[in-house]
Amino acid sequence: MAGLVDLHTHTTYSDGILSPAELLQKANELGLKVIGITDHDSVNGIEESIEIGRDLGIEVVPGVELSTTIDDREYHILGYLFDHRDENLLQHLSSFRKERVRRAERIVKKLNHINVPLKIESVLEKAGGGAVGRPHIALALVEEGYIQTYDEAFAKYIGYGCPAYERKVPFSPEDAISLISSSGGLSFLAHPGKHTSDAVLPRLIKGGLDGIEVIHPSHSSKEISYYRGIVAQYFLLESGGSDFHGGGRDSNGILGACDVPMGWVEEMKKRLF
Ligand code: AMP
Ligand code: ZN
Ligand code: FE
Ligand code: FE
Repeated sequence: MAGLVDLHTHTTYSDGILSPAELLQKANELGLKVIGITDHDSVNGIEESIEIGRDLGIEVVPGVELSTTIDDREYHILGYLFDHRDENLLQHLSSFRKERVRRAERIVKKLNHINVPLKIESVLEKAGGGAVGRPHIALALVEEGYIQTYDEAFAKYIGYGCPAYERKVPFSPEDAISLISSSGGLSFLAHPGKHTSDAVLPRLIKGGLDGIEVIHPSHSSKEISYYRGIVAQYFLLESGGSDFHGGGRDSNGILGACDVPMGWVEEMKKRLF
């Protein structure tokens, strides 16, 4: 069943399948009232989403998902309620996206070395001008018949530890948190259940983390309770969402299939204004 609030979604501005207009249309059909648009390394869909949302009576919370690294492990930081026109933020995101193209080129080169003759042009075409990511590489690999399924791409070629895996250029979570706060927003650790070690959370909290994404499709109810406990202990904020990407390839979520209370968004705003 769909709730009223979903604070974690992707559009064609990164690796989502739906454009902001299509995403908001779907959200409207599901009866959602608040939606956070959290594309990887891009806020280019925010302005149009806010406008479309206004017409539909859906509040769009400006968001972004940044990739950060500690000891070769990736941690995703979600930013919310920042100024999506902030010049410094826009400049950083633009350089992250350029680096994503370079990484995609490195991945394609590795694939070519192991006799998978994928071309970078096919990958960029899948990205359609949005932030390029491994999902676009996976889709191009399937389309060109090198593998059968999307998940196979990660299992065989581009997942962590696989022959064509490429890490991102290191960017620390502290720097991500500073970038978000300098543009007026709040930062949350995304889906911590995946692989967060005990030492990482205190470090991020010290670095200015505002909250934790406690509700995520990858979290068990036990994990949700655990992270809600941490939130209470450190006086943090809570967020949650479906991590919807669309396209029926979801190890991620179904739009709106998350029980995120409206009050959590109000608490975020209270902390800022
Ligand atoms: P990137 O930012 O290019 O590293 O791509 C990350 C995205 O790839 C995530 O947001 C997921 O949507 C997807 N992804 C990562 N690992 C896997 C996996 N093992 N299976 C399926 N999708 C994955
Ligand atoms: Zn994604
Ligand atoms: Fe993520
Ligand atoms: Fe995500």
